[in-house]
Amino acid sequence: MKVNAYAASEPKGKLAPFSYEPGKLGSEQVDIKVSHCGICHSDLSMINNDWGMTEYPIVPGHEIVGEVVATGAAVKNIKIGDKVGLGWFSASCMSCQQCMEGSHHLCSNNEATIVGRHGGFADYVRGHWSWAIPLPEGIDLSKAGPLLCGGITVFNPIILAGVKPTDTVGVIGIGGLGHMALKFLKHWGCEVIAFSSNPAKKEQILKMGATKVIDSTSPQELESIQGTVNFILNTTNVTLDWDSYLTALAPKGKFHTVGAVLEPMAIPAFSLLGGEKSVSGSPLGSPALTKTMLDFCVRHNIYPTVEEFPMEKVNEAIKHLEDGKARFRIVLKN
Ligand SMILES: [Zn+2]
Ligand SMILES: [Zn+2]
Repeated sequence: MKVNAYAASEPKGKLAPFSYEPGKLGSEQVDIKVSHCGICHSDLSMINNDWGMTEYPIVPGHEIVGEVVATGAAVKNIKIGDKVGLGWFSASCMSCQQCMEGSHHLCSNNEATIVGRHGGFADYVRGHWSWAIPLPEGIDLSKAGPLLCGGITVFNPIILAGVKPTDTVGVIGIGGLGHMALKFLKHWGCEVIAFSSNPAKKEQILKMGATKVIDSTSPQELESIQGTVNFILNTTNVTLDWDSYLTALAPKGKFHTVGAVLEPMAIPAFSLLGGEKSVSGSPLGSPALTKTMLDFCVRHNIYPTVEEFPMEKVNEAIKHLEDGKARFRIVLKN
């Protein structure tokens, strides 16, 4: 078997056609014929070796949907012909405390789809059966890819924080992650505030389910919602005035970040103490919750807003994302 892919061979390098031989299929692995693959900011970070763990050549792509074409002898639950999705993780140990509790995404021996192995900007990709998430009947394959990384990243916190339909919630940063969060929270039943610094996106943000858009660059606007928000989800990786968001929280409110903020976050203790407020973070989500999220998406017709590029235009698509022009997530199609 030969896999035809697109790979970068140096930091910030353009992607070029690249083929490789994946070797013998492991007994618990499946091969997936890639139909669509989303582009995530983490793909850019890995291409550029921002996290110091990239091995070149790298085939990015970890928001994959496609069809199972081969299964190892010990694969469970999945058969050839099944439609599945593969996200950031491609395997976990299946025996540690976290895996045994169903929190495979917290396994310390996890394998990531594009770390030290090749991802989904390709015609085929391989993964452990546990992370090949069965796609529900009727799902739109052309839009589902981003749910496997960006989607579950913002869905998991809604469960972790116990967000109720009666809650007022806020989402900081309405890009690839944030716009999916808006759609989930609207269908959850919440009053949804979008914090955005880009007034040009306002109409679109309201259409996606926000009840109100707050200009995150305006201290007055932030002050106007003081003490009213039960849950705030941060999807940005830049330093903001965190205290003004903690002040926006209602008593017992929760501030949760999925944005990998590059600098230490300044959290004044007094902003937490008086109202029993908390600050937390999380990475992605478990395979079981990913499945639950996909069912929820099909039930309510929730999909990311995507722009589609053919796989061979991958460099154009990456440039579009780097230029900040993506509205709101890019999907590559084979
Ligand atoms: Zn990702
Ligand atoms: Zn484990």
